[in-house]
Amino acid sequence: SPGTEFVLECRDVGKRFGGLVAVRGVDVSIRKGEIFAIIGPNGAGKSTLFNLISGTVKPDSGTVALAGNSINALRPHAIAKAGIARTFQLIRLFSAVTVLENVLVGADLRIAVNPVLTALGLPGARRADMQAIAVADAALSFCGIAHLAPLLAGSLSYGDQRRVEIARALAAAPKVLLLDEPAAGMNPTERKMLGELVRKIRVTGVTVVIVEHDVNLVMGIADAVLVLERGAVIAYGKPETVQRDRRVIEAYLGR
Ligand code: ADP
Ligand code: MG
Repeated sequence: SPGTEFVLECRDVGKRFGGLVAVRGVDVSIRKGEIFAIIGPNGAGKSTLFNLISGTVKPDSGTVALAGNSINALRPHAIAKAGIARTFQLIRLFSAVTVLENVLVGADLRIAVNPVLTALGLPGARRADMQAIAVADAALSFCGIAHLAPLLAGSLSYGDQRRVEIARALAAAPKVLLLDEPAAGMNPTERKMLGELVRKIRVTGVTVVIVEHDVNLVMGIADAVLVLERGAVIAYGKPETVQRDRRVIEAYLGR
């Protein structure tokens, strides 16, 4: 069950693109070990908020903090190393290489292979490679897709590709996992498995932040729900409470 410590905090975070305010002074406090859902209509700023947290977009105002430390000044790679892993709304796998090789990208981040050893082909490098492969295999097994390891990522179904992205993110041993619409393109069976996988990830102590359009999926698994509309928070709280909020029903659920 969720602890009381906040692992991720956004304080008055804002981002505009030209004249458009994509994220408007958002405050979010996410507890360690919780499943935290972000919902809202298209264009509400959900993906931009993820980009602000993972550092690919820098805020115009406010602070993003991981375990109490501001990560505003860090580059995306450093933020990933600090413990924030993510998947993307539009799948970003290397389709022409194997699933295992895709997941190794995440595992390498965790093992931090010494590039000099690798270049020289020294034993230390091989050991690190073996370790990275073991981590990647473990991440694939955890996600229930070990059997896909030798296949080309581009040959997989949409739902399987989404799970490979989750395995790659987990291979980096994150503190926080950001999932941007992980159920998009999944059939009902895959959605159910995804819900189970997210719960299983939470059991390991990883905090999961999930942007999702499938409100039923989200309400069934989330400890807390944040609702964004036009870049601003319109509701925040337990799923039961948020679901009954009149503004939420008008802005989102009722559509
Ligand atoms: P959501 O994920 O909730 O659908 P987004 O965060 O993708 O919303 O987008 C929020 C708003 O910001 C949208 O109006 C979108 O068009 C705009 N936006 C997002 N990224 C950019 C960008 N890089 N440049 C310009 N506008 C952007
Ligand atoms: Mg989005």
